[in-house]
This record gives sequence, structure tokens and C-alpha cells, in this order.
Amino acid sequence: MTELTALKGIGEKTAGALNRLGIYRAEDLVRYYPRDYETFSDPVPLHRLTPGGTFTVESVLQKDAAINRFNGMTIVNVYLADMTGRLQLSWFNAPFLKNSLKAGRHLVFRGRVYEKNGRLIMSQPRIYDPVTYREKYAGRMMPLYSLTKGISNQTLVKAVTEALKRVGGGPEYLPAEVREPNDLPDLSETVIRMHFPRSREELLNARRRVVFEEFFMAMLAGAYLSEHAGRQASTHVCRPNVQMIRFMADLPFSLTKAQSKAYREIAADMASGRVMNRLVEGDVGSGKTIVAVLAMLNAALNGYQSAFMAPTAVLAKQHYETITGLLKSWDGGEDSALINLGGFGMPAAGKGENTGDPGAHQPALQKRPLRVVLVTGSMSAAERKAAHALIRDHEADIIIGTHTLFQEKLEYADLGLIVTDEQHRFGVGQREALYRKGEVPHTLVMSATPIPRTLAIILYSDMDISVIDARPEGRIPIKNAVVGPGYRPNAYRFIAGEIKKGRQAYVICPAIEAGEDEDGAGSQDTAVPGELENVTDYAGKLKKLMPPDVRIGVLHGRIKGDEKESVMEAFKNREIDLLVSTTVVEVGVDVPNATVMMIENAERFGLAELHQLRGRVGRGEWQSYCIMVNTSDTDKAAERLDILNHSNDGFRIAEEDLRLRGPGDIFGVRQSGERSFRVADIYQDADVLKMAKDSVTGLLKADRDLSAPAHEPLRKLLEQYLEKGQMI
Ligand code: ADP
Ligand code: MG
Repeated sequence: MTELTALKGIGEKTAGALNRLGIYRAEDLVRYYPRDYETFSDPVPLHRLTPGGTFTVESVLQKDAAINRFNGMTIVNVYLADMTGRLQLSWFNAPFLKNSLKAGRHLVFRGRVYEKNGRLIMSQPRIYDPVTYREKYAGRMMPLYSLTKGISNQTLVKAVTEALKRVGGGPEYLPAEVREPNDLPDLSETVIRMHFPRSREELLNARRRVVFEEFFMAMLAGAYLSEHAGRQASTHVCRPNVQMIRFMADLPFSLTKAQSKAYREIAADMASGRVMNRLVEGDVGSGKTIVAVLAMLNAALNGYQSAFMAPTAVLAKQHYETITGLLKSWDGGEDSALINLGGFGMPAAGKGENTGDPGAHQPALQKRPLRVVLVTGSMSAAERKAAHALIRDHEADIIIGTHTLFQEKLEYADLGLIVTDEQHRFGVGQREALYRKGEVPHTLVMSATPIPRTLAIILYSDMDISVIDARPEGRIPIKNAVVGPGYRPNAYRFIAGEIKKGRQAYVICPAIEAGEDEDGAGSQDTAVPGELENVTDYAGKLKKLMPPDVRIGVLHGRIKGDEKESVMEAFKNREIDLLVSTTVVEVGVDVPNATVMMIENAERFGLAELHQLRGRVGRGEWQSYCIMVNTSDTDKAAERLDILNHSNDGFRIAEEDLRLRGPGDIFGVRQSGERSFRVADIYQDADVLKMAKDSVTGLLKADRDLSAPAHEPLRKLLEQYLEKGQMI
């Protein structure tokens, strides 16, 4: 492993900024693939320019550059004109440029064009000599990386170049028998061409291998898990319990048919004497949480612990509150929410009750209230210690947390069930690490990713699948609007009106601060980061525009854990009316009083992601609204967003998106929101998924334990993958 600071040009400061992108070593850098590419096109005549796009133009300057000064800034301006149109070029704080921008010079300029007062302006264009441009740049694809404060695209290009020189792509681990029939390039070629393709074909070829790897490893891990742990006899047999029926009857709502069916399937698995391994798939808002709660209660009533793993601390806290709330209000008779702890092997629940068995009154039988415990990273050491003790001593039955649940230090007394919520946010290996904590516990995985059943069966072939295909009844459908930036004042007024009525609202921005690109959200056109709306400035702006009594909160990924939780808590408790946030609220957050979701730069998000965001509203008894601000002026963006405008069905949206994009349209926004894959897209790459599946099957058939010498590198990588949930 090579330290970042060992690379030429990377000091402590740059290394620190890279850490924020999840890059810690040179090996991480070479796998930090671009989010998009910029193709250096040939110069175009001026009438071809459109606002929002990045273009190359060529001209012989008619006049020297003009220098203007105001507010302590210098602006260098050059005016171009040809037979077809005009263009103003502007540079800020670069007065030295005037020496090279003299009348008579023949130059090429490249930059992003915008419109101001009816005139086209190219801002901060790069300047090239025409011959150099044609020879060195025209037709080339340059990588565009997701950035963070303190890291420019240029810095990343240099850093990646250095890292590639130093560590290359790493040793090949895919055996020839996998690579050759699928026509995959070797690893080092793949890595280099992902960053610096010399043509579109090269890029597509490299990408194909990366996609293949991601699917291949995930499915290999899955097959390995089911081979070595799945479908075994279970020591955690959960018998049906009469208290379950009472609990269901006392819920504040009645279960939908789809929820009941999913739970029946789960209960049958848990009673079967074999280990459950089940995926519950259901669109946002279909009510997956309660199904998981039922499963955990079922385990608890049988004397087993459950671990419920949420992707974020905010969500863990929310689930904790929901579950404790449900249990508190449970009025199922005197001994409701009491669990029987045998201390004599067999769980006694359900046994004494029905038969009048005097065993139920034996002093050896301990009854105590069911206990739910939350474990988060932001707990104090003392709190954590106390929680760990409860878990170890079987004082805790339902344990809720984030990935903290599978830390080495945490010991379970008798873990019978693991539930992973929003599974697409975790890697496979994280699931595995938790798995090892128990003695082959049951696993239940909840996913909101709308994967067509045919593909889900391939990708999750090691699991049984339950689909929750209907929403709770009586929900008022969300009203959608896709609007241009000019509509903003109306939107703010509308939001203020809803808040006045006692409701709450979200505003989502893609970036945290000016000049950043949160999360590698991807882009449809090659937007320059920094032109995105950001949470910090937007909240400031809204404070001025909203009525003074509107309480505005801010949430994003860089706020510290406990602070994040308290912001979310305040929003839940209606101490905040308007929450300006990045997509951290995307998954799972449930505040039924919120009725407006306004999404800035909506064109920057994948449709699945937008659909998830929209799923944050429409959860209560009031009419809810989703306002998507489209800041791009391409037809394509409009057409994509129109899909959301007309459908509230996650599966349909995904299919429509795929149809619209067509096969050539690989980069840009990833639609599935499946974060366990960095590059692959389940829809787009369905053919590669099938290829990878066949390869996994073939390989394991030939060498079940990957013990052949030729498979050694792959086996090692698989072990690592299972440990960490990612490739490197
Ligand atoms: P998701 O599937 O997105 O995780 P949740 O489990 O968060 O959905 O449920 C969304 C909302 O619907 C919650 O407020 C929950 O209490 C409510 N809910 C769940 N099931 C039902 C039901 N059968 N009837 C009415 N409301 C329900
Ligand atoms: Mg959920």
C-alpha cells in the first residue's frame, strides 16, 4: 500500500482533502473513476452556442482585450463576432491575460456559456494555440471527477496520473477462463483507460470490465455465503406466538395485503428449522419497516435477539423511536410486550400460555418487558458501554444501529435475526460481517430499489424474495411540478403558505458549499461544479426571503453525527419548519407532517434518487407536493423529469428512464441508486449482469472453494471483499 503523500505533488493538505473523498492510499486513487468525461470538440461557429453548454470557439481577435475594474475585481473582456453571431469572453482577476489577448492573435477558446441580458458570455474560458489544440486536444476525452473543497479537477488528474505511474492497476485477479470468453481487457489496461480513454470505444470496453467486476464479485460473495452458511439447519426456530396476533390487531393501522403476505413468508421461514435469507423489496412508502418490526418481535418472543442495521444514524434513531412507540402503545393485555427468557434452552414463549402448563409459573421462567436498544457512533463511551452490556447480558432484545452493530467489541447474547434496512446503501461484506456475529442467524434485507423481479432473481440468487407491491390505502397521491428557475419566488410563497398551515417542507440542494459537487451525483451535461445550488448559501437566502417566524434548519453529510441527529430530531418535533438539506434525507426519513419537497438542480439527480426524495412527503393525511426545479435547458432533462411528473411508481419510472436513455447513453446520472456498485447500473448493464452470473456459476462448478493456484488471487480478493464490502 502506498501513502498518498508519497506521490509527487501531494502534500498533507491535499491528502487531507482527498481523504474526504474516501481516498486514503494511492491504490484508492487509481480506482477513483471519473463521474463523467469531457470531449474536446472541434471549434464551432457562434450560432451553435447555447446557454448551459461547454463549447470550443476559434477566432482572430479584432481588438485588444478590455480591462474593467469594479468592487476590487478586475475583469478582462474580449468580444468575438463571426458571420453567424457574437460572444463575450470574460475572465475574473487575471489582468495578466491582456498581454496575450492582443488584436491579430489567432486563438482557440473553450468554456461554459451562459446568457445574461440576452447576450451570450463564455466565462473563464481556457485559451489554446490552434495548432496545439488540434494536435493535442481535439477529440480527446478528459476525465471529470467528483470534487470536494480544496481539490480541483486538475489536482485530481495529476494525482491519478502519479498514482498510476506508481502502483498501476494492481495485479490481475480475474482468471483467464473468466476474462477470455467474456472478452474483457486486463486490469491495468482497464484502470488506465477508465481515467484516460483515447476513444469512446476504449472507454466503453474498460467500463464493461469494471461493471463486470462489480457484479461478479457481488454474486460470487452471495454464492459463497449461501454455499457456506445459507440454508443450513437453524438453531433459532421461531414458533408462532399468540402475542404476535394481538400486536398486529393493536397496530394503529391494519396491514396491507402485501405486508401480511410478506410477513407470512417471513414467519414461515423463521419457523421452518432452516436459516432464513430473504429480501423484501418494496417501493418507497410501501411500509417495509413494520414488516421488519414484526419479524424482530417474532424473534424476541421466542427469546432471540435481533439486530436492525440502518444506513445512517438519523435513520437508526428514527426507527428506534418508531419501534419503541409501537411497543409502548401496544395494549395487548397484562403481559403484553413481556418476553419469556427461558434460561433453560427452549424458548418458552407460546408454550405455557395456551396449555395452561404450570411450567409458565415456574420461578425459573423470567419475564421482563421487551427492550429496544439504540447503538450509534455518537454515543458517549459510557453510554456505549452500558448498551453493550445490555446486549451481552441479553437484557436487550431489539438492537438498532448503523454499521456500529458489527464492531468487533459488540457481543450478542443470542443473535437470531439480522435486518438490513435500505440494503442498497451497504456493501455485501458489511452484511457478512454482521452475519458472523451470530450463530448463523436469520437475515432479512429490506430494499427500496425498484429492480425488476427478473434481474433481482439473478443478482440475489442466494435469497428468497418477498415483494410489497401495494401502498397503504387512503394516501393522497403527491402533486408534482417540474418548473424553471423563474418559478422560485412562487415556490417560496407556496412553502411559506404550507408552513403557516402547520406543515413542514424540505428543500434539497446537490452541494454543501459553493464550488462543490456533493456525492458525485453525476451530471447530464458537463456542468461546472460551483454553479450548483448549495445548502449553505441557499439556507442563507431563504432566511432573508421567508417570513421571519419560519424556522430554517440545515442538514448535510459533513455535519457531525450527533448534531445531524439533533437537527433531524428538531424537524421531527416541528421545531424546524423548513429543512434545507442535501440528499442525506433521501433514504427512509419519515416525517408525515412534511408536505412539500422542493428539489433544486433536479436534472442533476438520477430518477430513482428523485423518486426516493419525493417519497419523503405524502406520508400523512395531507395533500403533498413535489417541486422539481430544472435548471438545465436541454430537451433531454425536461423529458426525463417529465417521467417523474407523470408517475409515482418506482418500477415504471426506472423502465421509462432506461427506454429514454437508449443503449449508447452510458455515463451521466445513474438511475438505480444502487450504491453497492460504483459504476454498474442494474438496468443499463443487465446484459453484463447475466454474463457475470454465468461466469460465477461456471467458475464455482469447476472449483468450488477457489483452491486452484490460478484462482488464488481471486480467493484472496473475495476474502477482502467479504471483510470490507468493497473491491479494495
Ligand atoms: P418504507 O417502505 O419506505 O420504508 P415506511 O415503513 O417508512 O415505508 O412506511 C411509511 C409510512 O407508512 C409510515 O409512516 C408508516 O407508519 C405508514 N404505514 C405503514 N404501513 C401502513 C399501513 N398498512 N397503513 C397505513 N399506514 C402505514
Ligand atoms: Mg424504509
